[in-house]
Amino acid sequence: MGDLSISDEDVAEADLVTRRGTFRSVAFRDPIDGHEHLALVYGETKMRENVLVRVHSECVTGDIFDAMRCECGDQLNAALDAIVQAGSGVLVYLRGHEGRGIGLVAKVRTHVLQDHDGLDTVDSATALDLPVDTRDFGPAARVLKYLDIQSIRLMSNNSDKIHALESHGVTVAARVPLLAQATDHNLRYLIAKRDRLGHHLPHLDAFSHGRLDPADA
Ligand SMILES: [Zn+2]
Repeated sequence: MGDLSISDEDVAEADLVTRRGTFRSVAFRDPIDGHEHLALVYGETKMRENVLVRVHSECVTGDIFDAMRCECGDQLNAALDAIVQAGSGVLVYLRGHEGRGIGLVAKVRTHVLQDHDGLDTVDSATALDLPVDTRDFGPAARVLKYLDIQSIRLMSNNSDKIHALESHGVTVAARVPLLAQATDHNLRYLIAKRDRLGHHLPHLDAFSHGRLDPADA
């Protein structure tokens, strides 16, 4: 694991001017999953320790269309803001990760079960005989290695993601919380992430006893 590295033929880099500032866009084709992913590099990160990093799983509905049923779009924006504020960092955008790896059609099918039958994000997947999480974080590890990053501070609430990156050889020096505001629309999803998937979401402590009104938080 982690032996296969990204080769130069599978990478293209250019400056990318964005509303937040100028990033280095590093597009790469992963040798194992075959998807084309994107790393956005801000400031100096080569050979650095404790680089602020977000490894973000693609969510078309949340990232592009600002859907409020998940907090993906909020996390993406907050992570980019934090990187710019820190003066350097990397956002790795992983394709093929829709619905924790089940794909876009299947993800929207789980939304039907969530909306009509009240199932949560976990049960709606298993009810369809779909895996709860099949994401492979190997591509993120490989691009961080390609970028010569020595160690990272990972913006995430998910310990499993840290373990996955470490299993691919990434040194995770610290976890930086990335807490999205709870709303009427995402609260059930956030609580399921906390209670079913073990994410660290201390800002939801007010909802420990089945209270589902974010106005109480
Ligand atoms: Zn999402």
